[in-house]
Amino acid sequence: MQEDQEKIKKLEAEVELYKSQIEKITTSQQDASKLLIRRDLALSRANEKLQELDQAKSEFISVAAHQLRTPLSAIKWIIHMIAHDEFKDLQERTDFIQKAADSTDRMIALVNDLLEVDHIQSGKDQFVFKKVELSPLVGSIVSEVATLATNKNISVEYIPDEKVTVVGDTLKLRALFQNLIDNAVKYTPVGGKVKIEVKNSDTCAEVYVSDSGIGIPEDQKSQIFTKFFRAPNAMKTETVGSGLGLFIANEIVKRHGGKLDFKSKIGEGTTFSVRLPLSVTGD
Ligand code: ADP
Repeated sequence: MQEDQEKIKKLEAEVELYKSQIEKITTSQQDASKLLIRRDLALSRANEKLQELDQAKSEFISVAAHQLRTPLSAIKWIIHMIAHDEFKDLQERTDFIQKAADSTDRMIALVNDLLEVDHIQSGKDQFVFKKVELSPLVGSIVSEVATLATNKNISVEYIPDEKVTVVGDTLKLRALFQNLIDNAVKYTPVGGKVKIEVKNSDTCAEVYVSDSGIGIPEDQKSQIFTKFFRAPNAMKTETVGSGLGLFIANEIVKRHGGKLDFKSKIGEGTTFSVRLPLSVTGD
């Protein structure tokens, strides 16, 4: 009897041991399946991201190819005319050859923009930061744009500030302001006004580029910094453009720790503002 009871106790103890082992195995199985679900979710997300990137890359290539096709077709057609001597006189021949040269310039500008976008996005772009005086830098771009503005009878006013020093990459900052000022002249009709102002606002450096041009339509404003975006009113006014300039400009400002913004009213004009951190005095 005593012996039987001891056997039963032993068996009960063994059963308890098995039970706790089974519980442990069940818990670790549950943990493993939770981990698997989490991994599966992470993999699905990574897969979705890859598909999005792949789609973005395809769109990028497709738009770039379309933009290159137009000037290439123009050049092909002009070469055909030269080969078959289809011009009515020497002047027409010279005009068409000039058109081919313009198309080539457009393709070079587009390829440069595409390379810049690729560099910026892949992080390959090396920014060389040093102290930069903004007023002379912006002033030199204003002088360069003067001829183009005069040809369109656009008045250009420049208001520099004494000492506005930032820490930045001179070439990138030049490209940024060049794009904003070129756009102001490009999207302002004959007889309009462009005003450029450099300011030291104590908390940051500010550059304003204002124009009395075509403006940006309200429903297009959210897309203005998107790659390849061109508003329909801009395409009607100025057929030449890649829609990459403002994307690049925005990336340059971000890399400098600043903010690019704009205010615009259709038919009245646009003001782009660039805010950059000031260089700390005594740097
Ligand atoms: P692009 O000038 O080659 O078209 P950008 O990237 O420089 O490309 O500009 C993108 C678009 O933003 C332009 O096509 C135009 O629709 C709009 N835009 C930029 N600057 C101005 C401006 N000053 N006035 C009106 N629209 C502008």
